[in-house]
Amino acid sequence: MKWVVGNWKMHTTPSEAKRLALRLRQELQSELERSPRVRVVVCPPFTNLEAVRCVLRGSPIGWGAQNCHEELEGAYTGEVSARMLAELECQLVVVGHSERRRYAHENDLQIAHKLQRVLEFGMRPVLCIGETLTERQAGQTEHVLERQLVGVLGRAPASVWEKLLVAYEPVWAIGTGIAARPEQIAEAHATVRRCLMQLGAPEQVPILYGGSVGARNARDILAVPAVDGVLVGTASLNEGEFCALTRAAAAERWC
Ligand code: PEP
Repeated sequence: MKWVVGNWKMHTTPSEAKRLALRLRQELQSELERSPRVRVVVCPPFTNLEAVRCVLRGSPIGWGAQNCHEELEGAYTGEVSARMLAELECQLVVVGHSERRRYAHENDLQIAHKLQRVLEFGMRPVLCIGETLTERQAGQTEHVLERQLVGVLGRAPASVWEKLLVAYEPVWAIGTGIAARPEQIAEAHATVRRCLMQLGAPEQVPILYGGSVGARNARDILAVPAVDGVLVGTASLNEGEFCALTRAAAAERWC
């Protein structure tokens, strides 16, 4: 199974999101129906989830959210809870994206609580982890990945493994146009897999790669055996590019 998850970030209005979702459905529906081993999910901004749900319901393309708050409900102005997302039938919720770690100062404890909420409402968390350029250059990649995984999953219930997806997203590759090389991805994914196993995870927990994935490099990245899919930002907003990389995922007989 290969995952293709689109993170639309803070792009699209409700009407634009509806148009993009409609075009993706028109372009990909029949192909995805013939390729049950590829799962495509798009994550629009919260305000556009209802519009996207209306368009994608009953199609092989799923939808999810980019974040949620760690509390169940309460006086948290401007926030969105996991319960709200579950009622919108989100299948996935991204937690711990590096942009949230950076701009909203989210830490591993907070991310662990968010992940717990996502599970409580029956959705699948996509836990993002990854090193900065400074950390990579200092030879700390392995240490950073382990620290983030243990920091979030060390507190998670045993039921987490059925639902969890991990996205390895080196911060230096996000939005820069410079993807990690296949051998760097393979090495980092091996670290993630080893750490997951030490935490008690079964081998089936999918590990996605994210960071400047597009139509031009999707095939090479998806061909890395340790890569169970891709998390795509910029290229997921371009219908042609997103369809092309989805086709790359569907084209091969991945095991
Ligand atoms: C992301 O936002 O998770 C991402 C991978 O972005 P981009 O594809 O633009 O690097």
